[in-house]
Formats: sequence, C-alpha cells, structure tokens
Amino acid sequence: MSAALDCDILVVGGGLTGTALALGLAKQGWQVILVEAADGNSLTATPEPATSVDEFEPRVSALSIASQRLLADLECWPLREAPQRYCDYLRMCVWDGDGTGSIEFDAGEMQVPALGTIVENRLVVRTLFQAALASNVRVLDGVRVTAWWEEGNSRGITLDDGRRIRASLTVAADGANSRLRQWVGLPTREWDYQQQAIVCTVETAQPHQATAWQRFSPTGPLALLPLLADNDARRDHFSSIVWSQDTLEARRLAALDDGEFKSALGQAIEHRLGAVVAVSRRLAVPLRQRHAKDYVRPGLALIGDAAHSIHPLAGQGANLGYSDVRVLLDELAQAFSKGLPPDDSLLLARYQRRRKGENLAMMAAMDGFKALFGQDEPALRWLRNTGMRWLDGAGPLKRRVAAEAMGL
Ligand SMILES: Cc1cc2nc3c(=O)[nH]c(=O)nc-3n(C[C@H](O)[C@H](O)[C@H](O)COP(=O)(O)OP(=O)(O)OC[C@H]3O[C@@H](n4cnc5c(N)ncnc54)[C@H](O)[C@@H]3O)c2cc1C
Repeated sequence: MSAALDCDILVVGGGLTGTALALGLAKQGWQVILVEAADGNSLTATPEPATSVDEFEPRVSALSIASQRLLADLECWPLREAPQRYCDYLRMCVWDGDGTGSIEFDAGEMQVPALGTIVENRLVVRTLFQAALASNVRVLDGVRVTAWWEEGNSRGITLDDGRRIRASLTVAADGANSRLRQWVGLPTREWDYQQQAIVCTVETAQPHQATAWQRFSPTGPLALLPLLADNDARRDHFSSIVWSQDTLEARRLAALDDGEFKSALGQAIEHRLGAVVAVSRRLAVPLRQRHAKDYVRPGLALIGDAAHSIHPLAGQGANLGYSDVRVLLDELAQAFSKGLPPDDSLLLARYQRRRKGENLAMMAAMDGFKALFGQDEPALRWLRNTGMRWLDGAGPLKRRVAAEAMGL
C-alpha cells in the first residue's frame, strides 16, 4: 500500500462551500488538501455565451450581501466572469396567489445598492476552483472518496484510486447526500416535503426589471429570479425559475410539452412579465429537509448541505453554507495564531454552537412559511394576507426582516 498523503485539513467536496473553505484555510497558513469527484477541467471551463435559455445552468443561488463579503475576502468577488453574467436584484415582490396580500422589498428603501445577486452556481465554483488551483491548496480532482478510516490516533480517507489521506481535521463538504457523514455515523433528522422543485431557465416577453418575483399558492411557491442585468439583445428577459409543487403536480408539469409548460408557467406567475417565450430543459429536484443532529465529532466537521439542506423557498441554502464557512474560518484562524491543532475539541464545539441555532431557526421559518401558505382554510388565508399587508407597511420591522435575509 502506498504511503498516506498528509495534511492539516482535508476538505472533501469542491462545491460552493468546500472550495471557499479550502481557499480560506490555505490563506491562513494551514496545509490543505481539497478532493473533488468532478474533473477540474469541466469545473473551470469557460461557459457558453448567454444568448439563449439553454446556455444557463439551471442551478442558481441568490447570494446575500454577507456571502458576497465572504467571497470578496477570498478575492473571488466579483467573479471572474464579465459582470453581465449575473444580476443584482433591486426589488423583491412576494404575493399570495390566492389572496390579496403582498409585500415588496426595495434596495433603495433598505439603503443598500442591491438586495442580493442571482448567479449560476457553476460560475461561483469556477472562480473559487481556479483560485484554489492557483493557491497553496493541493487540489485532487476527478477522484472520489470511498471510505473513512481510523487507526490509533490517525484518521483519514481512502480515494477510489487507492490512495489514502491522513488529516488532523477532515471537513465534509460533500453535499446533501454526504457519504462521509454516513460513514462516520453522524445521524440526521429529515423529512420529505412530498414536493419537487422544477428548475429551469425561461425567457419572458417583458424584462425582469431586476426583480425577484415570488408567488405563493397552496401547492407550493414559484420564484422567478432575474439572470442578466443588461438590455443588449434582450438579455434582461432571462430568468431562472424554481417552481416547488406537490409531487404529483410537479410530475404533471414536468411531463408537459414546452408549449403547454410555457402557458402553465405564464398563468402561474399571472403574466407579470408577459408571455413565457422560451424554456430550457427542466430539472425536477425532490425536496427534502435534512439536519445533522451534530455537526462535529473528533477529527471531523460538516459544512453546507452536508450539515443541513433546506427548502429552496427562500433561496438560503448556499447562504447558510457560507455562514458555516465564515465561522469555521474564524475559529481556525484563532487556532492557527495560538498554535492549537485544527481538531481542537473546544474549537469544534464552538463551531457547532455558533452555527446550529441560526440554521435551525431558518429551517423552522421555512417550515412555518410552508405550513402557512400550504393551507387553503379561510382563516389562515385571512391571517397570511393581513400579515403580509401589515408587514409591508411596518417600516422598521420590514427592514429588519430584509436585513436578516441579506445576512446583515
Ligand atoms: C432547486 C434548488 C434551488 C436552490 N436555490 C438556491 C438559492 O436560490 N439560493 C441558495 O442560497 N441556495 C439555493 N439552493 C441550495 C444550494 O444549491 C445548496 O445549498 C448548495 O449548492 C450547497 O453547497 P455545498 O458545497 O454544501 O454542496 P454541493 O454544491 O452539493 O457540493 C458537493 C460537492 O461534493 C462533491 N462530492 C460529493 N461526494 C463526493 C465524494 N465521495 N468524493 C469527492 N467529492 C464528492 C460533489 O461533486 C460536489 O461538487 C437550491 C437548491 C435546490 C435543490
């Protein structure tokens, strides 16, 4: 058997969170290895020019101001793409499709340049991955982790090419179905929403007005997120949709032909942006909320979707993951300056304590929203419509809700 590779900190998973963490840790001076199953060439490939709905990646994130600050600290924001490739949204319109309640958030009213930025996930990963390759991070791409091992005081993982890596601390950033979390035996609490999110890119007859549109209905929310900012060649007519529906309805919608789907979607969004003129290939993602009971154990920590995956209702999944990254970087910077090992048990306990509360609160809020809007009873309909109208007029509280969503 070949000798194990050694490092201080091993990060498994080069997605949105893992690449950011690995880069930040290397900047602090730790010896870091990043393992990613996908091939690095595909992750760093130049994207197609964005001229039709099929050239966008369907998975996008609404990056909060706080997430953007973290990326800026890593010298990865703005992204390396031309700025036109993503869209700052200046307004957010939320309304009840079955009632009269609505609420509108406006960047000017909140005294911020933008409420957040909609960006394709692959563009964020691309910039972070390129930065990791150019840094001191040792990047192993195109290889999978296949096992976790512990021998005496040593711990680490085995790769599918037979190599072993020994690390003081391993960070599992391997996504919602984290194998590492399962191998080390960290249990989760999970529940199935009996819903699927249909995700795709659409072109609409009218421009998106740099606005995130969200309509609630008893069968689930529909979000239209603006993709590109400029008006050249109607580029501000592209939006990404996340349409969460009960499973049977989602299956019916996914099976429609393009013409029928465009018409159903236009109706569902009440033609706020005119007709839907083009639609890309659709993905249907089963919605499951999952939360690890513990984020840490000796020698291992979970971050991002490996620790918690939430309903995409409020577009906060990546933002919660970036908050995990920020806190773990903060704890590990302190450990580095004090000469403590990265698997110091008090450090890991503090990381868990600092993150669990916020993640649980966000998950509970998403469940509350879903329950409130998932009922067609007149009393609940009255409550949510009155509540929305009241919040829309309650200046300071509304600003506080918006500041929370922006991560400020
Ligand atoms: C429909 C939908 C819409 C969403 N919309 C939003 C939104 O608007 N805003 C928002 O903030 N969030 C959103 N999210 C959530 C967001 O996409 C996730 O929270 C985020 O991608 C999680 O990042 P991550 O790095 O933790 O995991 P991932 O992005 O899943 O990355 C995991 C990485 O680990 C690698 N990997 C896995 N197993 C192994 C292995 N054994 N060996 C090596 N590598 C491995 C994978 O290849 C992958 O690159 C949405 C999610 C869904 C499903």
